[in-house]
Amino acid sequence: MQINKINKITKITKKVIIIAVFIAVTVALSACGATRDTGSKETIGNETANGSSKQTVKIAYLPITHALPLYIENELGKHNFKNIDIELVKFGSWPELMDALNTGKVDGASVLIELAIKAKEQGIDLKAVALGHRDGNVVVVSQDINDTADLKGKTFAIPHRLSTHNILLYQMLKDAGMNFSDLKVIELPPPEMPAALAEGRISGYLVAEPFGAKSVANSTGKVLFKSQDIWEDSVCCSLVLRNEFIKGNNDAAFELVKEYVDAGSYINSKGEKVNDIAKQYLKVEQDVLDLSLEWISYKDLKIYEKDYNALRDYMIEMDLSKNPPPYNDFVDSSLIEKVK
Ligand code: ZN
Repeated sequence: MQINKINKITKITKKVIIIAVFIAVTVALSACGATRDTGSKETIGNETANGSSKQTVKIAYLPITHALPLYIENELGKHNFKNIDIELVKFGSWPELMDALNTGKVDGASVLIELAIKAKEQGIDLKAVALGHRDGNVVVVSQDINDTADLKGKTFAIPHRLSTHNILLYQMLKDAGMNFSDLKVIELPPPEMPAALAEGRISGYLVAEPFGAKSVANSTGKVLFKSQDIWEDSVCCSLVLRNEFIKGNNDAAFELVKEYVDAGSYINSKGEKVNDIAKQYLKVEQDVLDLSLEWISYKDLKIYEKDYNALRDYMIEMDLSKNPPPYNDFVDSSLIEKVK
């Protein structure tokens, strides 16, 4: 009885071992196949007509004017891609977008550069490869505010503490001999800001476009300052990529950046499809879009060391970061420098 039982167990064990070996060999073979096919990380792309593989690059974004080159690239530039397909992934908030970027659910993002700097500081290997835009932020206030001093004791909204908007507000107050304790600064989701101003819940705000233009076009707000009046060549949004993607897929990363830069030039030269594409992604009225585009530029999207260092100094001065990464650790201009 005992011996029969042992024999039975031995037979079962043998079967299990045979199945395990079969699975292991199958997995090993398929893994070799995958390595041979892509020569890179897990993303295996679509087959093209000639049988070569095209890699799908996932880029995260929020629906703001500051990410416009991505929309143009996705609609026009993608037809020039040889090695990649682009998939834009829309998010509703910066924390959700950063979570996807930090955990590798996307390969890159158009994002507030301060959030990416903070992630890099915390050990996520990200690289800023281009600016999102130049200028394009405005201080919007209610009609009764005529200078910075009028904001004393009032409520003012920014989207996030880690933002160029917070830094611009800091410098604007400093220029007027004031500081954060002179007003009540709150964080609000950008789409809520125009309504909050119209209803008198806040007296001003500073945020990515087109939310500033919405209040100005409706006459519920006016422009107190443009970003360049406060901080020339301010750095705001950036196209950020995971470094493992750049290193493992350099040709794909270059193609992505090239079409991104070309999209910026297309917007700057007022390409005929800009309005239609922008409205497809932003859902804004034409007058709001016109105003928003009047304030922003997409010319020369390279991140220069002096501009980045100015941002770094602000982040330290404002205690937004103890040790923001130096330019050479965080900014990779090698791709944009190859774009003719
Ligand atoms: Zn921006």
